[in-house]
This record gives sequence, structure tokens and C-alpha cells, in this order.
Amino acid sequence: MPRRPKTEPLRSATGVELTREVAFRFALDPGPELEAQLWQHAGAARYAWNKALGWVKWGLTCREWERELGAEPWTELPWTRFSLINAFNAWKHGKTADPVDGSGGLPWKDEVCQDVFECAMVDLGQALANWSESRVGKRKGRRVGFPKHKAKKRATPAFRLRNRARPSDTQAIRIVDHDGIKVPGLGVVRHHGSNRQLRRMLDVGRAHLYSASFRYERCRWWLTLSGVAAAFHPARTSRKGRHLRPAGIDVGVRTLAVCADDTGAHVRIWEGVNALESAQRQLRRANRCLAKTKPGSASRRKAAQRVGRLHRRVSGLRRDALHQLTHWVATQLTEVTVEDLNVAGMLANRRLARRLADVALAELRRQLTYKARWYGCRLHEADRWYPSSKICSACGHKHGDLDLSDVTWTCPNPACRIVHDRDHNAAVNLARWPRDQYPPPARVAA
Ligand SMILES: [Zn+2]
Repeated sequence: MPRRPKTEPLRSATGVELTREVAFRFALDPGPELEAQLWQHAGAARYAWNKALGWVKWGLTCREWERELGAEPWTELPWTRFSLINAFNAWKHGKTADPVDGSGGLPWKDEVCQDVFECAMVDLGQALANWSESRVGKRKGRRVGFPKHKAKKRATPAFRLRNRARPSDTQAIRIVDHDGIKVPGLGVVRHHGSNRQLRRMLDVGRAHLYSASFRYERCRWWLTLSGVAAAFHPARTSRKGRHLRPAGIDVGVRTLAVCADDTGAHVRIWEGVNALESAQRQLRRANRCLAKTKPGSASRRKAAQRVGRLHRRVSGLRRDALHQLTHWVATQLTEVTVEDLNVAGMLANRRLARRLADVALAELRRQLTYKARWYGCRLHEADRWYPSSKICSACGHKHGDLDLSDVTWTCPNPACRIVHDRDHNAAVNLARWPRDQYPPPARVAA
């Protein structure tokens, strides 16, 4: 059957175009049997990755020697996802021997869903492609390193399974009831919360699932279902009833975020969430307790579990608060500017409050990027060197020696002397950033 061209959007069984990438995340509470299976699948994915990565490294070394001999390299080198899948499948069934240690056949292969191996090969193929594209400068962003061996103690246990059915066929990954999802090889997986929203979208043919990713993070298994959904109804993306001035958002240390427009008017302030602050205090205390325990002791394990649970609570609360914030921004504003993320500065910041604000900024940008597109709001990112908090929004004077701890400051310009709230001033400057970057064309007199 001919493949669907990449440019054409997927259509659901009812003929709706599915263009919006979506992901649904659920916390799992597996029983002992399922949990054992999850660990086994994660182990299999890690094993397959490491095995194939070993072959790739071996192939590269051999080819290096062959080139030194002055010959055209002849060693086989699986590199793309297809060649990796084929090489692994052949070895798994004992049809070919491992080029490194000569072994062949994987005795425990049938204990896990076979798609785990294929997905691991797809991921490795992607990682290799990212590395080679990054090396020749065809890939944006930071340089991508060569794929790494996944050590059992350090790698996050994770694996992925795909739903390869077309929207009109019986789905391999499907929802069975309000808290149960059927996944190939694992049966029905129970989760916390409700899947009502996703189920309704699937029932009326406005969504299609591609894959189920499992991940063990912060002392818990998580399931993420990714797929595509239909675009929103035009009424939900219209500008009607929105704040029409361009706005800026500053993620603060004192408050969660401040939003102001380019005229200097406050649009909205999001105070910190009380539950989040108390959870952060508990987390600091738990970290101090952890530091006092002896390595390898039972009390250390318990303290580490407590820290993990608190981390989960803090990040969950923060994510929830930010979801409410970004939903409001994407649906109530027409144009918004946020700071660019200073990754290097983030790593250098040892003060917890500042670091948490940076984490919040990263999550805010991630959520805004897709929600702004969904709801028809223009999003700008001010460049990294734009001193949004140091410019006086009233007179334009740049206050060079502004300290990070200054909550309010007075403009040193003798003609101005305005007292600024740090976060509000930064938000106003951000709101004006697009206008300064792309000034409107000068009007020609008629
Ligand atoms: Zn001033």
C-alpha cells in the first residue's frame, strides 16, 4: 500500500485532519506483577541500545583501520533506524553472529514485547543522525554528543511502544475504561486520575495515538501517550475579547510571574502558590536530613525516597500552576514576549530561589510554545543579552549595577527618579521588545 506523503496531515477514521501534536501524561500505580514487567521492558530497551551501540562503535573502529590500510572500508556499519532494526532482529533470532563477541540469539527475547527492541533501535538511529548532523552544522542548537552507553545505575529506566495501526483499524494502544489503557505486551495498565478528555477525543475521531512511553522518575512509573489531534474550533483561536496590546511576562523570584503590556499597565500578577512554597521548604529540610545519613544505610534509602517524593510534589505543583498561567496567557493575550533561557547561567546559579525561577521559566516557555500556536497567540523570545530588568521603562536609562536581590529600585537618572518594581519593570521592557526589534516602517507623507 502506498505510504502517506509526509506533507499531508493524518486523517482520522471520520476524515478529520489531525495536525496538533498532543501528549497525555498519567501517573501509574502498578501491582507487583506489572511493575516487574515494566522493569523487564526497560531493561530490555537499555540492553538493545547498548548492544547495537557496541556494534556501531566496533564498525567505526574497523572502518578506521581499513581506511588506514588504504582500502575502501568493507565492514558493515548499521547506522539508520532500518539497518539497526534489521541487524538487531537478525542477531536476536540467531541468524547472524555478534561481530564483537561472536554470540548469536537472545534466549529471553520472547519475555518482552518485541516493539521495545525496535523502538530502542529507532531511538539509537535518531541519536546517531542527530550527532552526524550536528557535527557538520546541519542541526540547530548546541552540539550533540555521540550516543552514550546506558549504565544501569545512571540511565533513567524508560521504554516506548508504538501503535502502528491506521486510524481506521483496531488500535494497538487503546483506552478500555476511565482509568485503564491497553498497551501491547503489557495488557491493561491502570493509572491515576481520569482519561476522560482523551477518551472523548478518540471516540469522536478527533485524535490518534502514536506511542506509549513508560518512564520511572522520582520513585514512580509514568505513562505518556503521544499522538495528534484535530485543531481547535476557530472560535477558540479568535482575538475577540482578548487583551490587544503586546504584553511581556517576567518570571520572578518573589512572585510566580508578572504580566504587563507595553503601555506600562499591569495585566496580571501570579502570586506564588502557597502549597508549592511549603513543599519547597519541606524539600530543603529533607535534603538536609539526607546529607546527614550514612551512605549505604537503610536510613539513607528512606531519606532518599522522601526527597524523591517531595521533588515529585514540588514539580507537580509547579507544573500545574504554570499550566493554568500559560493557558490564560495563550487564550487571553494576542502577543506576548518572554525571556530567552540562559542555560549557562542556569547551571551557574547556586541559589535555590533563582534556580527554581529558572526551572519555572524553562517549563513556562515549553508550555507557551505549543499553547500559543494552538490558541493563536504570537509568542516572541527576547534575545539572551536583552537587559530587560536593568532598563528603566520610563526613561530608557540602563542601570548597570542592579543587584539580583533588589526587589525595587530607583532610576539613577536625575531627571527621572522613578521607583520601579523589579519584575513589573522587566515585564514592561519585554512587552516593548518586539517593537524595538522590528520597528514599524516609517510612514511616507502623502
Ligand atoms: Zn528612568
